[in-house]
Amino acid sequence: MSVLPIRVLGDPVLREETRPVAEVTDEIRRLIDDMFETMYAAQGIGLAAPQVGRTECVCVVDVEGERFAFVNPEIVHTQGPKEKAEEGCLSIPDVYGDVERPSKVTVRALDRNGAPFEVSAEALLGRCFQHEIDHLHGKLFIDYLSFLKRRSALAKWDEEKDKYSGFIRILKPGRPASEHPEEEL
Ligand code: ZN
Repeated sequence: MSVLPIRVLGDPVLREETRPVAEVTDEIRRLIDDMFETMYAAQGIGLAAPQVGRTECVCVVDVEGERFAFVNPEIVHTQGPKEKAEEGCLSIPDVYGDVERPSKVTVRALDRNGAPFEVSAEALLGRCFQHEIDHLHGKLFIDYLSFLKRRSALAKWDEEKDKYSGFIRILKPGRPASEHPEEEL
């Protein structure tokens, strides 16, 4: 397994629509394994293929040991009142914002063996599913912010982005924990 470089805001791959996976092959399983490895190295709780420069419709999630690999995921149902909570993103390091999302979602996907399954989740896990599936459609959490909040998030990113030459974030082993590790997706 390998820790992959993470693409950051400004890399066009983050804005591309992914392509559905026709068959879950060993190559896709390797991608899933590398994505988990990369997500753990970054101390994140979710990671989507475009964040490692790939265009397959694949994402991974691990919220407090609830671990999922989704191939071709779709949100088939949302429920409950919208809830607002702070989000961050491994592709926009050190930028955070409040995002309103449905409190409960049901996702249909293929697992790492190509078998279809459905899972429902709420709270942080449900939020993480929605954030990662958005990535598969080129959507980022900052897109949900109001004009003013988005402007201030982008101003903060302007100060950060020079750290990432070529829009690439190389993870260093032993990187100190982020201030908000639980919210980086
Ligand atoms: Zn993200």
